[in-house]
Amino acid sequence: MLILNGILHHGISMSSFSCVCLCSARAESAGSIPARRIRRLFSFQRHLLSSRLLRGAPHLNPLHILDEDYCGQAKCMLEKVGSWNFDIFLFDRLTNGNSLVFLTFNLLNQYGLIELFQLDMVKLRRFLVLVQEDYHNQNPYHNAVHAADVTQAMHCYLREPKLAQSLTSFDILLGLLAAATHDLDHPGVNQPFLIKTNHYLAALYRNTSVLENHHWRSAVGLLRETELFSHLPVEDSIERQLGSLILATDISRQNEYLSRFRTHLDENDLCLGHASHRHFVLQMALKCADICNPCRPWELSKQWSEKVTEEFFHQGDIEKKHKLEISPLCDSEANTIASVQIGFMTYVVEPLFAEWARFSDTRLSQTMLGHLGLNKASWSALEPEASGSSEEGESEPGRATEECTDGDELFKVQIT
Ligand SMILES: [Zn+2]
Repeated sequence: MLILNGILHHGISMSSFSCVCLCSARAESAGSIPARRIRRLFSFQRHLLSSRLLRGAPHLNPLHILDEDYCGQAKCMLEKVGSWNFDIFLFDRLTNGNSLVFLTFNLLNQYGLIELFQLDMVKLRRFLVLVQEDYHNQNPYHNAVHAADVTQAMHCYLREPKLAQSLTSFDILLGLLAAATHDLDHPGVNQPFLIKTNHYLAALYRNTSVLENHHWRSAVGLLRETELFSHLPVEDSIERQLGSLILATDISRQNEYLSRFRTHLDENDLCLGHASHRHFVLQMALKCADICNPCRPWELSKQWSEKVTEEFFHQGDIEKKHKLEISPLCDSEANTIASVQIGFMTYVVEPLFAEWARFSDTRLSQTMLGHLGLNKASWSALEPEASGSSEEGESEPGRATEECTDGDELFKVQIT
């Protein structure tokens, strides 16, 4: 806790509110660039972001002008970091936009991983600050708060009895790091957009898991730059396994992972004494953590729904402006938050969490399924016509992906 106090009190400025204005200004300027220059726009952004020389030393947003009460409340919240009701938005405000740094540090410390792996405190702090900085604050959804939220959810899953009894400290370290870095440097647009605008990342990764490969390689870049694990003989293994976990979050491979999970559960042959099986369960846990928004209490879930739809519609606006084909779910005139959410819950979230609850039949799993049902009902009540297509999923959520191929394909393509 002493170490945490030191980090919490490290000098940081209270700019959360001005950030919102800055984001809209950037979003507007992005939309005004001619179509032929879209590729340059994104390459240019990446160049600026990746240039350490231009960026200088990493820095936390200042905390020192915040009232002592804010720091006290943030520390108080961390005592309940394992609660499914944890309000990451409030925590982010209390830490002045530093939720990812503080939350991840706290968890690594709480699990005893800093001591066990003899992590250098200066390197660790630098690594976490760089990770937080490499998320784009201007993205409504794929930003550092989403990463912090996924890390918090991952922590909840790691504490579930089946995992807690079998995971090694190394597994936990990997799980937390993968959660914190799984969307690193996300550009706020999806893979089809990068492909159709000839973005260099699409060419680099041959149009396959383009974003996930980039998130992983960006994480490896920061690990090497900070030399966080350079004293460990398992450095290569960390990089490899981190990649395997992050690549599992590619939603276009959802059915592949889900059927494997289903087969293991049907045959009851998951043996968590085997490293490969533990790794597979970690992959499934990270996938759940990544799309668990609809399983949170309504007040939190609703905010995430609004943010992710805002990001989709922003992409749609860029596509419209530059006369590109508008991606599915991105047209604000053809979709609503409710219709996007109900489809997402039916075709993607329900099937995954139904299997997760079979694997880990606990109070948390029942709580998550309970929120999922209530949240879907709330969106349906807000827009009854949008819920019409989800009847199949409601009758048998576990098999929704097989029965509703069109919807499934639509969401597989879009959600990342
Ligand atoms: Zn994510």
